[in-house]
This record gives sequence, C-alpha cells and structure tokens, in this order.
Amino acid sequence: MRLARLLFAVCCFIPASSYGERTAAPKPNLIVIMADDLGYADVGFNGCLDIPTPHIDSIASRGVKCTSGYVAYAVCGPSRAGFMTGRYPQRFGFERNPQYKIDDPQMGLPLSEQTIADVLKTVGYRSGIVGKWHLGANSVHHPLERGFDEFYGHLGGGHRYLPQDLTIQKSEQAKNELESYRTWIVNNRSPEKPTKYLTDDFSDAAVRFVENNHSHPFFLFLSYNAPHLPLQATDDYLARVSHIEDPKRRTYAAMISAVDDGVGRVLAKVHELGLDDRTIVFFLSDNGGPILKNASCNDPLRGGKGDVWEGGFRVPFAVSWPSHLPANTIYDQPVSALDIMATIVDLSGATVRSDFSLDGVNLVPFLSGDDLASPHKAIYLRKFDQQRFAVRRGDYKLVISIKDSKSKLYNLSNDIQEKNDLGFKNPKELAELDRLRQEWASQLIEPAFLGLIHTENYQKKREKKQKRQKK
Ligand code: CA
Repeated sequence: MRLARLLFAVCCFIPASSYGERTAAPKPNLIVIMADDLGYADVGFNGCLDIPTPHIDSIASRGVKCTSGYVAYAVCGPSRAGFMTGRYPQRFGFERNPQYKIDDPQMGLPLSEQTIADVLKTVGYRSGIVGKWHLGANSVHHPLERGFDEFYGHLGGGHRYLPQDLTIQKSEQAKNELESYRTWIVNNRSPEKPTKYLTDDFSDAAVRFVENNHSHPFFLFLSYNAPHLPLQATDDYLARVSHIEDPKRRTYAAMISAVDDGVGRVLAKVHELGLDDRTIVFFLSDNGGPILKNASCNDPLRGGKGDVWEGGFRVPFAVSWPSHLPANTIYDQPVSALDIMATIVDLSGATVRSDFSLDGVNLVPFLSGDDLASPHKAIYLRKFDQQRFAVRRGDYKLVISIKDSKSKLYNLSNDIQEKNDLGFKNPKELAELDRLRQEWASQLIEPAFLGLIHTENYQKKREKKQKRQKK
C-alpha cells in the first residue's frame, strides 16, 4: 500500500509532504462531535447498558474505538482550547475555565493562537461551530473572529435547554457565567430565541450546515453542551429511558439520547449527500463525567471531571472514515484530542504557522494499522491550581501531587483503577516519567487569567460546602 502511494506520488510529481497531496484525493471533510461532561462508560461502545446510543455507537462500528482517548485537560474550557489549537493549553496560559466577562479581551483563547478553522481556511474549507464555545465571551474571541464562517450557539460554558428559560436576549447583557446560561442563542452575531429543546435545535443547525456547505470541503464542530448541567430533558426523551430508576441518571440518560438522535441525523445527512467516504468523523467528550453532579459513570476508571485520575481526562473516543479506516476496530494505544488538528492539517495539506509546534500527530496511519508504533511519546496533564501532574507512557502512569510531595506509579494494563502504587518496586520507571514531566513542564507558562473558581460566588459556595462538611 505504502509502495503504491509512493509510486503514485513520484509518477505524478506531487510533493509527498502530506497525505492529501500524496493521494491527490479530495480534501476530506471533518466533523467533530463533542459531548460535554459525558462519562467514559455512558456510551454503548464502551459497554453502557442502560442508555441506548445506537448512532454514537455506529461511529465506532464503522471505524475505530480508541480505548485510551485523552483530552488535554480535565475540565471544559482548557480541554477545548487544546482541541481547537492542537496544542497543550498550558503552553499558552489557558489552564482555567474562563469567567464570563464580556468586557475582558484577556479572558479567552489568546489571539496569538491559531485555531483549526484558521488553518483550514487557508486551504479552502468552510468551518462552522454549533453549540458551546467557551473560549472567551469578549468580541475579539467570537468564533467568527477565530476562523469560523458560521456560528450557532452560546459563548459560555453551559446553557439551559428549555426555550422558556432563555430570558436574556443578548449575550452582552449577561453579567456572569450563570446568567450566560439564560441568553438567547447567537446566530452568527444576532440573538435568536430557539423554539425547541436546545439539543434538538443544535442538531437542526448542524444538519443545515452540512446541507449548505457540502460543495466545499468543510469542518463542522458540533459542540453539544449536553449532558452538562443543568439536567433538563423533554418528556419524549425521558420516556425512552423510563427503565432507569434514579431520577438524576434518568434525566442525564434522556439528554444523551437527544444527543444520539442528533448524531444520527447528521450522519444520515452525510450519507444522503454521498459524503461518507470523504468525511472523517470524531466523537468524544470534552472531559470525564462529574459523577455526583450529573450521575455519569466513568467505570472502570478512577475519579471524574477535574481529576488527574483516568476518569478526569480519558474519555469516550471514536473515529470513522470508511474509505481509509477499518471498521469495527479497537485501538488501545493512547491518543489525544490534540491529534484531531494534526490529522486534518496533514490530510488537507494545510500548513501551521512556523512558530507553532503542534502537540498531536496524524492518527490515520496509526488507526489504519500502517504504523504500529505508539503515536505519542507520552500523554501529559498539569493542573496548575492543584499543583498536580499526570504522565502516561505505555502501560505506566505517573501521578504527582507537588503540594503533598507524593509521586505514584501505576500500571494501567493490570490496574486500571490506579490503586497499587508501584513507585517503590519500579523507581527507574518513576524517575524516567518524572524526567519527561519536568521536560514538558519547562515548556509551559502560568495561567494567563483567573478562572471560574476565583469568582466570589464560587468562593461563597465553597465555604458553605466546607461548613456543611465540618458539621
Ligand atoms: Ca465539560
């Protein structure tokens, strides 16, 4: 196969700098469907039994399920900043969930960074984002200023789902994150009041985008805010999961079922337009499930959203591209949401600014079985405010709490729950992973803005909680 590609490239005098050019194939469309706060175990392709997700599962069955798919951070904003730039967000100071501050141009994705949409624009793509943005509410951070051609969604980190709850017309009128949950939806730059359950409304917009843009190569970022809080679902979706007794999990499941319907509708539209073989589809969550908050499940992983444990940043992750990736495949080597940008850059023949280095790799040779090596030397996480780090290399994972001066080593191949510290037994591996951590950390900067955890409201809530716990 490789030889055939090489001969083809030589015969046609096509530079072999990128996969897209080598094959002289049309540039593939990219669809990234990201759920919000979805648990590792809450999709059928990862073994979920109580929530039906047939359409999400179809991405894995038509392609590759990645069992060790990581995101760049364990909470929403920084994870998305990483995905959107293909770079660890700690490199550019995006290490906290931004506060909703319409007047603060510093509160968001630094303008020095390039987004996937910026890069794809240079090679003729049309890019659209539907749903949650969360990379800055100030006008300089608006998606249409960051490479996207179309935006239909909300600027903050979450949103209420029922149209009657959306009582603030303009995004600029929301004074804080909580108020931003109640704004109308932003249609490019205009406020628009949805008439439907928000997840369905976003699915409509995603289908519309594919319909209207398929004569060009396109990038659709379908960024569902579901199943992030608040837990709200319609009776129709609740009826589908009436077998679930716990009301919190029932509502959470209904919200996922709505996402699944939307995924099905987008995939059906791609199929109807004859684009299956020209469209690479990723499905993932932006971070692990916050178990207590939305009744999600990250089994068998330890911990959840916000943690350096696997449950914090290892997520449901599947990729399909029927013409290039085998169906029904399971891939166990660690991959990252940071790879999405590197993949499409390579496939589209785009170039990234020379002063930037991407942290991801083109996954296609790995997922197709052409390259048997591990795509990454290691996967890294730093949580600055907690002074915690994680490094995964092969089967081993190092977890460090700087404050407590504790370093622990786990072998995930036989200890997925990170219970048995092997640091004493294998000090050499621990030291090597720590060396990698230090090397990586030396390239990072401190957070560039304060986060949601620093707001007065958050602090008050936290103090109340601490008082309750003391009683
Ligand atoms: Ca999230």
